[in-house]
Amino acid sequence: MKQRLLVLNSGSSSLKFKLFEVPDLIALAWGAIEEIGGEGPIGHIEVSSSGKEPVKHYLGAGVSVKDHREALGQMASLFKETAVLDSLHGLYGIGHRVVHGGEHFKAPVLIDQEVMSTIKALVPLAPLHNPSNLLGIEVAFEGAPEVPQVAVFDTAFHQTIPDHAFMYAIPKEYYTRHGIRRYGFHGTSHSFVAKRAAKYLGRPLQDLKLITLHLGNGASCAAIEGGRCLDTSMGFTPLEGLMMGTRCGDIDPSILPYLARNLHMGLDEIEQVLNRRSGLKGICGESDMRRILERFKAGDLDAGLAVRMFTYRIKKYIGAYTGVLGGLDCLVFTGGIGENSPVIREMSVDGLRCLGIEIDQEKNRIATGLPGAITDISRGGTGVRVLVVPTDEEQEIAHQALMVIENG
Ligand code: ADP
Repeated sequence: MKQRLLVLNSGSSSLKFKLFEVPDLIALAWGAIEEIGGEGPIGHIEVSSSGKEPVKHYLGAGVSVKDHREALGQMASLFKETAVLDSLHGLYGIGHRVVHGGEHFKAPVLIDQEVMSTIKALVPLAPLHNPSNLLGIEVAFEGAPEVPQVAVFDTAFHQTIPDHAFMYAIPKEYYTRHGIRRYGFHGTSHSFVAKRAAKYLGRPLQDLKLITLHLGNGASCAAIEGGRCLDTSMGFTPLEGLMMGTRCGDIDPSILPYLARNLHMGLDEIEQVLNRRSGLKGICGESDMRRILERFKAGDLDAGLAVRMFTYRIKKYIGAYTGVLGGLDCLVFTGGIGENSPVIREMSVDGLRCLGIEIDQEKNRIATGLPGAITDISRGGTGVRVLVVPTDEEQEIAHQALMVIENG
């Protein structure tokens, strides 16, 4: 039996996993255990068998999953039941998604005690994510201490951003003493689709100026030259930049003290509003783009406004980043919305012919985010190439983990 590599994404109440065959990184099984610690945890695994539809198995009814340790145990049982992996001890390696690597981690690393301490020290920068990512690492080490484990950071790809782009124009000591700067997120996805786009175009990544648009529940944009990220739209936290499902993106910071003083809102409430009740949801009451587009089509005005705001902001960033790059070879759409919505793609580039960006209506209409498929939706063949590239963060984490383990 070929060896297996496991990718884990450990959230505050969930454990998502994907198992790959080594070294070709074919996905064998994937799934999630959700609502860990809740009344009725939900868990499933999908097992792929070549050429056939994946088969889905569920966690037995009445199974209790108190914490992440038990979730890992249940995942291992699901692997065993479905005959994809006998035991975690047999793994070639484990790749963990870690949200924040600060300025310390510019690349994926083999995890040891020191790496774990550093991830812990970064908790103040990512209080919602790093603690659960770390918990995933700890329980995996308990379950299989001898298996090499690699941390792959969402922020690492953006560490090439120059200081004039990552600094905020606030007193410099807030950066030097407190690390307040722009970090950027979704790095694994931006780096994956950039590499895939270059391969598809048959050109070295080193020669390309790219803008990648990751449009999912969270949304961000990156300017990439020669494979190096020059700027990205998310900042100190994932709140900055594009309009998102429930996050506001760029706003005037003076709105915060205004809300505090005049609406008597506390800091926690303001943070909650900006992260959970803003963005698409704040404007039209829901964040699911599929539903919003149905309402937009039926003439709903709030849904229409939300869609216009969402795509206008994207267009602004495309313009800005074309300036940052001094030109553009290729624009990439990815993420649930970027891969699947012709309307959003069309509206986001509407009027950008002046930058050489034009899409073909028919190619755009039929492009979908089917795994592995890349579609060129640009019009003609002379201007900027516009591609729809399905992202696969787990695949990229697996690839990076494999590289780190192979290189010792
Ligand atoms: P996440 O950021 O949580 O990983 P995804 O990348 O899966 O999320 O993106 C989720 C978003 O993609 C949702 O807003 C969903 O409505 C949207 N989406 C998925 N399919 C379509 C589609 N066919 N048309 C428009 N939006 C879609």
